[in-house]
Amino acid sequence: MSLRILLLGGTGDALRIARGLPAGHVYSLAGLGKVPDDLKCEVRIGGFGGSAGLARYLTDAGIGLLVDATHPYAAQISANAAVASRAAQVPYWALRRAPWQPRAGDDWRIVGDWAQLVAELTPFARPLFTLGREPLAHLDEIPEHQYWTIRCLDAHPGNARACVVDARGPFTLDGERAFFAAVGADVVVSKNSGGRATEAKLEVARELGLPVVMLGRPALPDADRVFDDPCALLDALLAPYE
Ligand code: NAP
Repeated sequence: MSLRILLLGGTGDALRIARGLPAGHVYSLAGLGKVPDDLKCEVRIGGFGGSAGLARYLTDAGIGLLVDATHPYAAQISANAAVASRAAQVPYWALRRAPWQPRAGDDWRIVGDWAQLVAELTPFARPLFTLGREPLAHLDEIPEHQYWTIRCLDAHPGNARACVVDARGPFTLDGERAFFAAVGADVVVSKNSGGRATEAKLEVARELGLPVVMLGRPALPDADRVFDDPCALLDALLAPYE
């Protein structure tokens, strides 16, 4: 076998790459979502214990190439990966998904953190949150004039002024149209995740003329090789086998 690969995942793109990896390589997940049981490569679950733990793992498991296909907002694991790869002297490749771009007529309001996000939402009554579980930590802070809909991967009872919808992408355009109609949102809150799986919400916001409050992307470390396409990354990983 050529270099043993550790693939850091937790996204649909990463799973597509993992499905192409032969036995002997390792696919790593934080353990928050579904664990695939049909891969040829090994699957490991859970944190490494920071960058030092990851560096130790790279050495102990005989890893020769570290590949980061985590979500663009998973900044901690990417920062750890960059540090650990240097410490263990293992090359670090990364999949960096291109961000979505606003189109003519779109009303995007870019914010840098939760406090700015909440301030930007002040004029609205029915925000639809589609940026993961973070709003669940703020259910007791919902302003009097607002009712929140929170779509995330967690099942949660919500409260009198918030409804939590447990749903996993990909989402279709027709599905999003129906969902938006049911929710009656007057503003959408999103990360700029990029990719096709969750892009339909932006199309529906455009159709309905809804503003989008967009949480800006975190800074990510440089990598030895950067890919914006999972197929190109997998091809490069499989090149030694051809
Ligand atoms: P994070 O803040 O960057 O990472 C937190 C900690 O979780 C890391 O320090 C690491 O623990 C552990 N971890 C994260 N990804 C891991 C992986 N692939 N394998 C092993 N340990 C991992 O990450 P997050 O934002 O909580 O996201 C967690 C996972 O969900 C990531 O794998 C990411 O790809 C996926 N995800 C995130 C988002 C998002 O919006 N953030 C969206 C979709 C999917 P140790 O320090 O102990 O090693």
